[in-house]
Amino acid sequence: MIIRAKQNTTVEEFERLKQTIINMGLQVKDVSGETFKVLGVIGDTSKIDERALYANPAVGEITRIQSPYKKASKVFHPDPTIIDVKGVKIGGGNFTVMAGPCSVENHDQILECANAVKASGANILRGGAFKPRTSPYAFQGLELEGLELLKEARKETGLPIITEIMSEDMIPQFVKDVDIIQVGARNMQNFHLLKALGKIDKPILLKRGLSATIEEWLMAAEYIMAGGNEKVILCERGIRTFEKYTRNTLDLSAVLAVKELSHLPVVIDPSHSAGKWSMVEGLSQAALAVGADGIIVEVHNDPEHALCDGAQSLKPKAFDDMMKKLKLIAPIVDKVMK
Ligand code: PEP
Ligand code: MN
Repeated sequence: MIIRAKQNTTVEEFERLKQTIINMGLQVKDVSGETFKVLGVIGDTSKIDERALYANPAVGEITRIQSPYKKASKVFHPDPTIIDVKGVKIGGGNFTVMAGPCSVENHDQILECANAVKASGANILRGGAFKPRTSPYAFQGLELEGLELLKEARKETGLPIITEIMSEDMIPQFVKDVDIIQVGARNMQNFHLLKALGKIDKPILLKRGLSATIEEWLMAAEYIMAGGNEKVILCERGIRTFEKYTRNTLDLSAVLAVKELSHLPVVIDPSHSAGKWSMVEGLSQAALAVGADGIIVEVHNDPEHALCDGAQSLKPKAFDDMMKKLKLIAPIVDKVMK
């Protein structure tokens, strides 16, 4: 970290600033020139709260050299992390497909969807049991009954299951029943939840918040990893922009950014990005081409009557067609689809 002092800083103020940094257990190197007073800070600067430091009257500008996250950073872990979910590998050259309905609605619906996505080559079954709906009057999910139905679908198909957690009190149940715990976009900065998830041994799929920067998203991953759980999969699901034609704007460059900054696997959710089923195939192909480690995609046996997100759900046939194309593209972009 480099700290440039304000132009008119006195020698006493500059010395006081140096001492403040030293008192934090860090080393300082005075690299002042003729016109500027500058300090180089050496050590673990992740503990420095920049905002608090700006309260010091001598501080003009702070420039970070290292990222504020450590465990999520590629600097300390150059090799890509590969997460094993019951034999399904996520990361490291694999393109993993998680598919299923937005919500578990009833026995026949989830079983039909699960069997269909399995037959088309999906690796993991998705399905929401607890739904974070914008309206409190909208379908909130089958909750525990939904979880039981997901488990039944897992038993029948052999596909591991991913579903969204809402709060800390559900963790024991999810640890017992679920293969990947999804943290939804709306909970990305629920720091209590993230800390609690850091203490368990279960893969976490962390969706990017609706308006989160890439750094905020990686810091959210850091919250989980700091507690000891390093099995984090990032998921870009579209961000809020001025554009209204699509539900969100898929930030494809976020995949490349994460690959530059972190060793964690990153997948794309084309369904919540577009909000329209007709765009899902194109965005999934783009996910593959840009180097994502997989996709999480909504598939429904009867989208017109879906209780949630029917407009963005692929029918099984469209999913099957898409999978065939993805499998053709995968070897060209050095990805393995199993
Ligand atoms: C979902 O995956 O069903 C979901 C609610 O996604 P997000 O958190 O990205 O909105
Ligand atoms: Mn959905």
